[in-house]
Amino acid sequence: MSHDNRHSQSDDNRHARVALLSAGIRCRCPRCGEGRLYDGLLEVRESCEVCGLDLRKADPGDGPAVFIILILGALVVLLAVLVEFWLSPPLWLQAVVWGVFILVAAIGLLRPAKALLIASQFKNQASDSGTVNYDERD
Ligand SMILES: [Zn+2]
Repeated sequence: MSHDNRHSQSDDNRHARVALLSAGIRCRCPRCGEGRLYDGLLEVRESCEVCGLDLRKADPGDGPAVFIILILGALVVLLAVLVEFWLSPPLWLQAVVWGVFILVAAIGLLRPAKALLIASQFKNQASDSGTVNYDERD
């Protein structure tokens, strides 16, 4: 009896984790997993187009950007130094290549990172400054 409860609970937890990851990586609504999260490149929609979840309360703050800046910054410095040692390209070429790479990679990583944090905040009813109730109307 208790074993069955544990089994179904762990299934529920696993399902919630998969849904959270899936919603984050696909940049979808944290509640239904269907509606698009962004209106444009990085602008979060006011509400979900499918389930109507009020997304104005979603507030990931600077968290995702800090992670992306630190990880991407370290990676690009390492790669730029390695390319300089191996190929010694002209400095202007390094600046152009890494400039474009940083721009594309930062936006490409920031979209799912921000969506993942929003999905996680929704699951835990958390916000940048405490707790938030998504079902409550202001
Ligand atoms: Zn939705």
